[in-house]
Amino acid sequence: MSKQLNVVVVGNGMVGHHFVEQLANLRESAEQVNITVLSAENRLAYDRVHLSEYFAGKTAQDLALTDESTYHDWQIDFRTNAKVTTIDRQQQQITTEVGETFSYDKLILATGSYPFVPPIPGGDQSHCLVYRTIDDLESIKSSASSSKVGVVIGGGLLGLEAANALKELGLQTHVVEFAPQLMAVQVDTGGGRLLKSKIEELGVQVHTSKATQVIEKGESCRYRLVFADGETLETDLVLFSAGIRPYDNLGRENDLTLGERGGIVINSQCQTSDENIYAIGECALYENMIYGLVAPGYSMAKVTANHVLDSTSETVFEGADMSTKLKLMGVDVGSIGDAHAKTQGALTYTYENQPEGVYKKIVVSSDKTLLLGAVLVGDTSEYDSLLQYMLNAIELPESPEALILPMAADKPMLGADALPDTATICSCLNVTKGDIVAAVDGGACSVADVKSCTKASTGCGGCAALLKDVVDKELESRGVEVKKDICEHFAYSRRELFDIVKVEKITSFEQLIEKHGQGLGCEICKPTVGSILASVWNDYILDSSKVPLQDTNDTFLANMQKDGTYSVVPRIPGGEITPDKLITIGEVAKKYNLYTKITGGQRIDLFGARVDQLPDIWQELIDAGLETGHAYGKSVRTVKSCVGSTWCRYGVQDSVGMAIDIENRYKGVRAPHKVKFAVSGCTRECAEAQSKDFGVIATDKGWNLYVSGNGGMKPRHADLFATDLDDETLIKYIDRIFSFYIQTGDRLQRTSVWMENLEGGLEYLQKVIIDDHLGICDELEKQMASIVGKYQCEWKTTLENPESLKRFRQFVNSDKTDSNIQFVTERDQIRPATLAEKKAGELGGNIEIVDLTYNESPSESSKQAVAVMED
Ligand SMILES: Cc1cc2nc3c(=O)[nH]c(=O)nc-3n(C[C@H](O)[C@H](O)[C@H](O)COP(=O)(O)OP(=O)(O)OC[C@H]3O[C@@H](n4cnc5c(N)ncnc54)[C@H](O)[C@@H]3O)c2cc1C
Ligand code: SF4
Ligand code: SF4
Repeated sequence: MSKQLNVVVVGNGMVGHHFVEQLANLRESAEQVNITVLSAENRLAYDRVHLSEYFAGKTAQDLALTDESTYHDWQIDFRTNAKVTTIDRQQQQITTEVGETFSYDKLILATGSYPFVPPIPGGDQSHCLVYRTIDDLESIKSSASSSKVGVVIGGGLLGLEAANALKELGLQTHVVEFAPQLMAVQVDTGGGRLLKSKIEELGVQVHTSKATQVIEKGESCRYRLVFADGETLETDLVLFSAGIRPYDNLGRENDLTLGERGGIVINSQCQTSDENIYAIGECALYENMIYGLVAPGYSMAKVTANHVLDSTSETVFEGADMSTKLKLMGVDVGSIGDAHAKTQGALTYTYENQPEGVYKKIVVSSDKTLLLGAVLVGDTSEYDSLLQYMLNAIELPESPEALILPMAADKPMLGADALPDTATICSCLNVTKGDIVAAVDGGACSVADVKSCTKASTGCGGCAALLKDVVDKELESRGVEVKKDICEHFAYSRRELFDIVKVEKITSFEQLIEKHGQGLGCEICKPTVGSILASVWNDYILDSSKVPLQDTNDTFLANMQKDGTYSVVPRIPGGEITPDKLITIGEVAKKYNLYTKITGGQRIDLFGARVDQLPDIWQELIDAGLETGHAYGKSVRTVKSCVGSTWCRYGVQDSVGMAIDIENRYKGVRAPHKVKFAVSGCTRECAEAQSKDFGVIATDKGWNLYVSGNGGMKPRHADLFATDLDDETLIKYIDRIFSFYIQTGDRLQRTSVWMENLEGGLEYLQKVIIDDHLGICDELEKQMASIVGKYQCEWKTTLENPESLKRFRQFVNSDKTDSNIQFVTERDQIRPATLAEKKAGELGGNIEIVDLTYNESPSESSKQAVAVMED
């Protein structure tokens, strides 16, 4: 029998563990290869990529990538709290801090990296922390409990993630960045600018081009940061996130070749300058590059495991793609390949939609045939497609800009079908489409099956949607019915969850996930369940248990605008309003200096309110008899009407009366998406009812009902559902259809798409609703009656509830207002100042700035608010 090979692994981070897993799988037995693992931390490997979820309630156990019993099963000899201090290369032996020695034939350095703390005087005090390990997170938690303000030094990817954690811990949060923009490595100037404004909208203050010189004792807070430009910032907690440095000390002290700026140099087999010592993960330097992502580390681990067992192995590491897609504080950011267009001759196409907060850029080769890179901020829906274009060098369409322009219904997106088998789907685990196809051929019949046998999407999770797409397409092509699970936390479709909630009388997310789901939930299932609970029970949506399920707009019962202010939309049923109510709206707008606009839905939108002003504004509107218009919710919006038979010479029915009845009946009803109605008094159709979810048009004999119309990006003409209905039947049919849609519609599906996807289409719907084909009409009506009976004006409830009112503050730990919000006047009303105008204002330019910062009573302040800055 040949001699047992002794492999010692130093470091049990993500990459070290991946190596162990690979080697344990590849070796024939523990007798053939003995594996020893030495970890400096007090626990075995855990998922650093999802570290921040620790603050969202995940435990160290949830994050664990392995456990002692698994390592025992694999016959791995392991030690925790075992920092390796020396290597004796001659004797092929290493020693730990406590003096234990281990011999090796092959040594694997997987020591990772540590956070770089810039040498700022005062930076070594308590409450000056870093963000890398579970122990670091414990220290941050404990410091935050006695802090009000936190500053993250470093505005890169990890810095923003750390800032989010501080914000979640309830601290007033600042990010200080030395460079002129955020995430300078991944996004370009345009993307960085938009990212900054979006992050500031979320209440985190960003300070760019700031060099911290000293951290000294503060006055209002524990510390004061003093910047090179003389400005200061007070904070209780400092979190350094200024980059990483490789843990290469073992290499340095033992004469392994290092890079100029650190990192243990490796070849394409991951061997260091000593052929028996390998380096993998963030401590390794390959062709002058440290790869700070997990995917390249995993590739190195795979190459090394193969090479350790077989020195003739042809698997090699040749660098890796560093594209990333992530959500930072709810802001989608994607960066692909050559994001900064550094390739010679590269051309760029840029699309920017300021009102929607979207920035997209693609970088293409000089002949416009290949995609070289991309930057996406605010909307990363094209990320997967663009990445595939780049990774697989797929020839671009004739007009590459179509890939990022919003309008194209015939957008040249790469569906799962269009991808070659060699396309990498999961770059973390290096899983190709071909691997997935093979897994399905081998019997995998769900995403979970494919995940467990290929490990796809078990890294950063960024490929989850694409993986699902590929698996679904493959299963469909084999005639297998594809499950419509909403996400990995619930093995149910939205419709199934709806039924469960209703039948089992479930009233909270916690109950639902405990009984029927797994894990903690995510950004797909939480709002979906929030919407289902609202649709079934119509309870107050800002109950403390329901707040975490709501989208931002629902959380503040108002629509957030591009500058971080909110709009206020009172309900004006049927578009009819008394002069007194009109005067109240006008007076409120004047008092709070709000921009007013008549909307397409025949009501009045008041823009420019700060979050802390919303309760005062609503109190005045409600006192005058107005109610919330639910403009923020996935719910019934408006019922537009023409003046009808009351005033119009052609009118054959009272369209306004009907519109008001409809609006009052369905106001506040929540659905998979927003729902609009309209009522026209005759077939001239002045209210444009045929472009609404529910359209009603008067006839001589009653009403024609149209369903599933839609304006917007993909307009759809409504279908004529029934003709000449009397008032009662009209409402009965709407009750039934609306209820049926709420129950069966998919997440975020408008009625138009719902109808398109309904098997049997209009005819089937008519059978269900008119002929009661399924025998459910009674139930549908009852369900609608119960929601309608529980209507409440959410703003009225909120004003009566001091606990709910607490959330209407600009900053969690302070009553201060946001001085960043600035307006200019245009056509006698305010509008948000552009960046250039804000700058001109700071320099004393000739523009009118309305600074809404005030401490007086609102009425007093709005008089004072207009400061004309002139030079
Ligand atoms: C908050 C956060 C978010 C991240 N998000 C992403 C992401 O979205 N996508 C992505 O791809 N990457 C992300 N990363 C980076 C990713 O976590 C790393 O690339 C990956 O963990 C590197 O693995 P590693 O094993 O090389 O190093 P590490 O995970 O750092 O592990 C190295 C281990 O070696 C130990 N060690 C060091 N020296 C010794 C010694 N002398 N003796 C014994 N043990 C020693 C260390 O204590 C450590 O436990 C993130 C990182 C952080 C901190
Ligand atoms: S939402 Fe569902 S699908 Fe998306 S990341 Fe969370 S678990 Fe995955
Ligand atoms: S739809 Fe008919 S009733 Fe209504 S305003 Fe137009 S013409 Fe008059």
